[in-house]
Amino acid sequence: MLTKRRLGAQGGSLILPFAIVLATFTTRAMLNQLTISELTARLAKREVTAREAVQACLDQIQRVDGRIRAFLSYDAADALAQADTADQALAGGATHAEKPLLGVPIAIKDVIAVQGQPLNCASKILGKFVSPYDATAIEKLKAAGAVVFGRLNMDEFAMGSSTENSAFQVTCNPWDTARIPGGSSGGSAAAVAADECIASLGSDTGGSVRQPAALCGCVGLKPTYGRVSRFGLVAYASSLDQIGCFAKDTRDAATVLGAIAGHDSRDSTSVPQPVPNYAALTGDIKGLKLGLPKEYLVGGLDPEVKQAIEAAVQQLAKLGAEIVDVSLPHTDYAVATYYIIATAEASANLARFDGIRYGARVDGADPTELYCRTRGAGFGAEVKRRIILGTYVLSSGYYDAYYLRAQKVRTLIRQDFLQAFEQVDALVTPTTPTAAFKIGEKADDPLQMYLADIFTISCNLVGNCGISVPCGFTQSPKLPIGLQVLGKPFGEETILRIAHAYEQSTPWHLKRPAL
Ligand code: GLN
Repeated sequence: MLTKRRLGAQGGSLILPFAIVLATFTTRAMLNQLTISELTARLAKREVTAREAVQACLDQIQRVDGRIRAFLSYDAADALAQADTADQALAGGATHAEKPLLGVPIAIKDVIAVQGQPLNCASKILGKFVSPYDATAIEKLKAAGAVVFGRLNMDEFAMGSSTENSAFQVTCNPWDTARIPGGSSGGSAAAVAADECIASLGSDTGGSVRQPAALCGCVGLKPTYGRVSRFGLVAYASSLDQIGCFAKDTRDAATVLGAIAGHDSRDSTSVPQPVPNYAALTGDIKGLKLGLPKEYLVGGLDPEVKQAIEAAVQQLAKLGAEIVDVSLPHTDYAVATYYIIATAEASANLARFDGIRYGARVDGADPTELYCRTRGAGFGAEVKRRIILGTYVLSSGYYDAYYLRAQKVRTLIRQDFLQAFEQVDALVTPTTPTAAFKIGEKADDPLQMYLADIFTISCNLVGNCGISVPCGFTQSPKLPIGLQVLGKPFGEETILRIAHAYEQSTPWHLKRPAL
């Protein structure tokens, strides 16, 4: 498969004294733990180099990724070469005002194309495919000076909520390695939570950025549909997919969004709307109206999650926001609607992986046999389940009953949100109904797994934006809980402002897992 560079067993009595020496020089040893703002401040003052920052991330990967398994592969030489380029630019007088991510190591979900690097979507079907080009979001990250490195694990083709559907490995939650990190961008969330990178990119079709961010205790931002170009993002469900980012705090998420957002003529659904300075965060939310959807705080919600969300809402009120009860009456239909539309689009999008246009070919006596063998061997069980379901709901005789009806319900769900947004500036909800569950717990029950996205899915059906920020922990075991803030289409500035103000007044985003 891919080039894996993992640390072998570390031996020797020198390790402990060495660790103590390292711990004394915290600024050097802990560069991987910094936020983007902290790291860029030190880079700008030339206290540290980009090479040291990248090396710190590579060292952390060596130290912990054998347990976390967030990375499918990474190219250390290429990352260090990019770091050297950043250091040269800094030495030549380049500033973070011009290049906001100059020298910042950012890791990438294995569904976004990076030139010269493997692109597998955590699937066997892509074989040894290496991307010949950069996705627009990657081009933009590089233009902003970021060191783009690593291929992060995910559910195969972004289908799943636990990262257990990867064809290669299961990623573990850094807070409890017996538990899932969420999905489908589980590798992206775990890598940030475990300080293996400073920030990461993922994709969110039904919650795949916000849900794993909540379960791993980091910030996850899903931009409005059309805000970030999808060019170079391997398509799962094109009307729902959006590239998003993971970060250690809200300001960092704002900085990454500012770098990757914007119109792109290569994605006809990207919107030509100016990109504001998202990172200009005031910390003030006085007078903002926040809606609390009554359908989101009922049955199935874990009591500890409920408590954390209620406390967060109180905190937002203390900060001067006005809390308003709202209703999203079609909430109950969101999961069913999503799984019809997403699978229908997936069945069409994945048709290209046939061993002829794309895919690791398994030969057959005729084209049909070649096609069946290639797809039979290349796709995992969940991907096959969804292709079959999606093909069924689009087939003649069932199209009207399922696909068309789902599209109509999608419109009703959209109207719910538009009406709510007439009364309020944003909505606050739990990100997930429970904290991280155990590896294997829901693996045999797809319907239970689908319910993990119950609070995140509507946002994709509607096309608006959302963010998840840490808002507490369960008691025993200690697992992170996420608060979701949903905004109007192109309302990123508002949700970032709310998340940031909340974060400034609470300690949750500062907690790190003990690894
Ligand atoms: N868990 C949802 C699914 O399996 C969402 C995945 C995603 O957002 N990519 O489709």
